[in-house]
Amino acid sequence: MTDIYKNIETLFPSAGSRLLKDVIMSEYTTFRLGGPADCLFLPESIEELQILYSYAAERHLPITLLGRGSNVIVSDLGIRGVTVIISDNLSGTEFAEDTIIAQSGASLASVAGQAAQRSWSGLEFASGIPGTVGGGVMMNAGAYDGCLADSVIWTEYLDEHRYLRRIDNADHEFGYRRSFFTGSRKIIVRTAFRLKEGSKQEIFSKMADLASRRRSSQPLERPSAGSAFKRPAGFYAGKLISDCGLKGFQIGGAAVSDKHAGFIVNLGNATASDVLAVFCHVQQTVKKMTGVLLEPEVRFAGDWQSAIDELNSCHII
Ligand SMILES: Cc1cc2nc3c(=O)[nH]c(=O)nc-3n(C[C@H](O)[C@H](O)[C@H](O)COP(=O)(O)OP(=O)(O)OC[C@H]3O[C@@H](n4cnc5c(N)ncnc54)[C@H](O)[C@@H]3O)c2cc1C
Repeated sequence: MTDIYKNIETLFPSAGSRLLKDVIMSEYTTFRLGGPADCLFLPESIEELQILYSYAAERHLPITLLGRGSNVIVSDLGIRGVTVIISDNLSGTEFAEDTIIAQSGASLASVAGQAAQRSWSGLEFASGIPGTVGGGVMMNAGAYDGCLADSVIWTEYLDEHRYLRRIDNADHEFGYRRSFFTGSRKIIVRTAFRLKEGSKQEIFSKMADLASRRRSSQPLERPSAGSAFKRPAGFYAGKLISDCGLKGFQIGGAAVSDKHAGFIVNLGNATASDVLAVFCHVQQTVKKMTGVLLEPEVRFAGDWQSAIDELNSCHII
């Protein structure tokens, strides 16, 4: 474990506080839980990513890639190998006519805010999604009347061999909370979005309206990873969960939110195992009572051992 850290330190001798060891992941996830990452690296350039991934590939060293950790649950046992966080250190943006080009670590809120300041419309829906451009494109994040697929022009990424490539919108294979990048080892580094000129006042007023709708319907006062389950065809996950009498259902410090049954929240002292237990109970109860299998929207990271086997259709990163 120390060796991994020491070896990575040799690769990036001037990384300073961008390279950390035994870091408790609760600080890096919106669920505010999860055990230690053996070695955590915050790259600030594409070249650093290329060096790290080539090094890791040669040594079969596992890498876990995260953005703002707003769609993940990290195991209580933490994450082995190297955890790479692409966030504020790779978050530059450039504007050119009706296009904004954002590095993958830029937060969706900041990109939407910068566009609004310049009276560009099209990303208002994304202003309340607490993730990065990279995590958002990977998930085709969406809310209310929009999703990123509607405005992406192109994305640049590092492929499995660490070559920089670019794809146009049509090649993203966007679907509901998925894309060409889902389940792959590709790393999104930059995305260009097409926007429309609008009225600054209307853009900000739409963003304020969506924020207020979120605050009144979602448990934003509690740590979570957003919607726990994907919307099953023909149903709403929250309504199914609520109709099964599961609002407020609690195990340890994790519970189905009283405010919105589609969210599983950390009441303050939840472990990742508590959260997993609530996910399993909800999935099993809803399946038994309605026949619908809810598929987790959140992704599971780190060392879950066999604990995760009980949860169906979940994605481990
Ligand atoms: C309160 C709350 C509200 C939310 N509301 C919404 C909503 O309205 N709509 C919605 O769609 N989501 C919502 N989410 C979920 C989440 O914010 C989105 O899925 C977001 O896009 C995840 O981005 P992230 O940077 O946090 O990714 P992470 O959670 O860090 O990672 C998610 C996945 O993306 C991958 N990933 C991250 N960065 C990259 C990269 N650069 N290249 C390749 N893969 C990458 C990771 O490996 C992982 O598999 C909400 C979450 C919370 C906590």
